[in-house]
Amino acid sequence: MTGNTEQPKTPYFVIDEPVLQRYYDMLTGSLASAWGNYLVGYSFKTNSLPWLVSFVKDRGACAEVVSEDEYSLARYLGYLDSEIIYNGPYKGERSFCDVLLAGGIVNLDSMQEIRWLADLVSRYPDRTFQAGIRVNFNLEKMCPGETTMGEESGRFGFCYETGRFAEALKLLQEMPGVSVTGLHLHSSSKSRSVNIFRAIARMACQLQEEFNLKLSYIDLGGGYCGGMAGRPEYPDYFPAVAEELRRRFSPEQTRLIVEPGISLISKCTTFVTGVFDTRDIKGTRYVMTDGSRFNIDPTMIKSSHLYHVDYTDVSAEISSEHNLSGRKPLTRQIVSGFTCMEVDRLFTCEDQPELIPGDRIIYENVGGYTMSLNPLFIQYFPAVYVRNGNKLRMVRRKWTPADYVQGSEF
Ligand SMILES: *Cc1c(COP(=O)(O)O)cnc(C)c1O
Repeated sequence: MTGNTEQPKTPYFVIDEPVLQRYYDMLTGSLASAWGNYLVGYSFKTNSLPWLVSFVKDRGACAEVVSEDEYSLARYLGYLDSEIIYNGPYKGERSFCDVLLAGGIVNLDSMQEIRWLADLVSRYPDRTFQAGIRVNFNLEKMCPGETTMGEESGRFGFCYETGRFAEALKLLQEMPGVSVTGLHLHSSSKSRSVNIFRAIARMACQLQEEFNLKLSYIDLGGGYCGGMAGRPEYPDYFPAVAEELRRRFSPEQTRLIVEPGISLISKCTTFVTGVFDTRDIKGTRYVMTDGSRFNIDPTMIKSSHLYHVDYTDVSAEISSEHNLSGRKPLTRQIVSGFTCMEVDRLFTCEDQPELIPGDRIIYENVGGYTMSLNPLFIQYFPAVYVRNGNKLRMVRRKWTPADYVQGSEF
């Protein structure tokens, strides 16, 4: 955006719709060519902004939810029970049963859920319920140094190595009215490499072979890269996965389910913040901005950010060269948020033109685990806009005290 277009008041998120569409098409295109028989479950926890949910819903994605609240949100936004993929350790019994009754996908995570299923079966003796099992397996051993769980085990699902998976499978196979139709193998990794997904596919083959399973779906889960320079994209993952799966499965019998979150929405989302003050304290220049670290790094794990600066009253062409007339370069400027916490510092820029009030700092690749984890701390939720070409449309207004107090008594 150049300086002369009318711009909204900072801070705000922007979702670039054509970029989002491009990533969605890349996802479905590569699944279609690699395997053909696929289903997309959009990960609600990554970003459940209603506009985003509607976007993926309109294009045929199911809702991948991991709590009864997320399930209820999916229903609220128009999803049917049959269009839900219900995962995670914290389901609600009522919604668990509703999704199973409607033929949606439920991936069992615990013994408690197996008991709920047994109970459901006893209430509907004429029905057959299809269930999937979340597999807990040693992915770290297959991909050393790449996983989030590391040497310790993961926390989710039934553990293959300890025999809990075999136990659960046996229980379910002996239950009348239940058929085990799927495996859920979501595993979070640090690397998000193609190798990780090859290993996950290999595990699916191993389980199929060892337990002689007849599966209508393999759910790979989420955890892909998308929109990061030098990292894999969708067309890198699925041919590799398909190659592995083809040893034991065919697209005619087994559907490939994917649950993308961050890979779909990262690239298309930016966060626009403005400088409102600068101050020098003991030789350090602090640049105060109206965006906070809590907006884009709520879990406080990032050590760097992708960003660019729109210098006020300077054309985009000149600012890209950092050749700003009348601005002295400063050796060190600490860019900070608006909150009253010292840790609310975003980055330090070195040997850059002096930042002044009115400049905009625009953070890139901030679609996942930002809006959904944003606290209501000091300032309420910022507005969200959708960009189409030069047009910005507000899809969530900034929250006000009225939004904050809803449901409260005072
Ligand atoms: C978090 C999660 C996802 C999405 O992960 P991304 O890293 O955002 O792609 C998908 N499935 C399950 C079960 C998850 O827990």
